Amino acid sequence: MTERPKILVVDAGPSPGEGHETRKSGTATIKTRDGRHDDGSFSRIKMMTQIFTCSSAEFVKHHGEAGAKRYLQATKAGLELQKGLAKEVGGEILSEMGSYYVCSPSQRDELKAEYDFLRSLGDCCDDLEFVENMDHVLGACEDFPFAIYFPRDAVIDSSEYAKRLMKRSLASGQCVALYNTRVIGVDDGPEVCTVTLHSGETVYANHVVVATGAMDPLPQLHGLVRPCYSYLAHVPVSPDNAVQQSANFFTWDGSAHDWCFDQGKVRVSGEDHFSAYKDPHLAERSGRLIDWAWEKYGRPSTTPVTEMTHEGITQQFGIYSETPDHAPLVGTRCDESRVCFLVGCNASGQTILSFAASLVPNLLGYRGGKLDESQRDALRLLTIRRFSELPSSF
Ligand SMILES: Cc1cc2nc3c(=O)[nH]c(=O)nc-3n(C[C@H](O)[C@H](O)[C@H](O)COP(=O)(O)OP(=O)(O)OC[C@H]3O[C@@H](n4cnc5c(N)ncnc54)[C@H](O)[C@@H]3O)c2cc1C
Repeated sequence: MTERPKILVVDAGPSPGEGHETRKSGTATIKTRDGRHDDGSFSRIKMMTQIFTCSSAEFVKHHGEAGAKRYLQATKAGLELQKGLAKEVGGEILSEMGSYYVCSPSQRDELKAEYDFLRSLGDCCDDLEFVENMDHVLGACEDFPFAIYFPRDAVIDSSEYAKRLMKRSLASGQCVALYNTRVIGVDDGPEVCTVTLHSGETVYANHVVVATGAMDPLPQLHGLVRPCYSYLAHVPVSPDNAVQQSANFFTWDGSAHDWCFDQGKVRVSGEDHFSAYKDPHLAERSGRLIDWAWEKYGRPSTTPVTEMTHEGITQQFGIYSETPDHAPLVGTRCDESRVCFLVGCNASGQTILSFAASLVPNLLGYRGGKLDESQRDALRLLTIRRFSELPSSF
């Protein structure tokens, strides 16, 4: 590269080898059980959701009610931003059916209390509904008859979305991509950032955005960003209960199941919250998800239970990041820094990531260099500077 880039983003999107690497994070990490390449036959979608990645009570413990409101405003804006962009690059990668945060009959009152709390936060949640009869909801499971409905939520083919955005940026001529490379060092200098690639090559940039997900190879964030595994299965179920496509469903009780119908099968995922510095347990964890989907929606054939295996069912895992207070880490460590962080989006990061990314140009002094009032307010929650005791030796 001859000209010094203004902003170098590590990592800006899916690489051509997307889906084939085990030790990468998030969107780019997904690996199938038998290691086969993605031939497009399995689910590539992400749920776009407004809600926190923990209960409201847990989020409020860390950030107060004002912080909870900030998060929900940010995800509300992130949803609109991402849906708008998805429509610009081809709306068929998006399905807007909302999400249902569901519970069993015995948990109805707890879920109602959660709903009342969310509604009390004002306009960030003014369109939520408490649903007491799910009979009309396509793909709903009869074990969960109560729900909070989030009408803005959606489902996106996140892989295709990222690829199309990347293609558009490259076509603009204002952006170049360095494929199949790994950054092993970022030096934050007073005049310029020096970025070292694993090939030994050095690249200079006015600013660097570290958007490396969870497996941060740079020592700066160790301890703050915790890599964890999330598992997925794309499960054929009884034809009596299957639908082609559905809204998102999440369980309220902390058993951490989230699922939707995609291409006529249940796409079910669950985080195990264990360190991704350990080996994954794909067969066991995805196996449990498959059994759960069969318990809820019935098996796809009349084969006796004892003879049913998980063979041939798509099972995947990937790595996402957890932060100590369930919010991402965004921005520079100090005013003089040229390194902007955009990491730690947690388990349901698809939506907050969009919002957080929209802050970056202004944070680095581009596009006029000024955040508007709502962006400034959101930054009070998201800024990396809230971890003020983080060692400053980088
Ligand atoms: C199996 C699974 C299912 C999920 N389902 C959902 C869902 O339905 N809805 C939802 O909202 N969220 C979901 N998530 C979480 C979501 O994927 C993350 O919140 C989101 O991907 C975070 O985006 P990110 O850009 O911060 O990180 P990532 O998507 O992890 O992207 C970081 C990129 O940086 C690259 N990178 C890392 N280090 C380097 C380096 N040194 N040099 C160059 N490149 C580097 C990685 O290869 C990767 O491509 C899921 C996660 C997993 C694992």
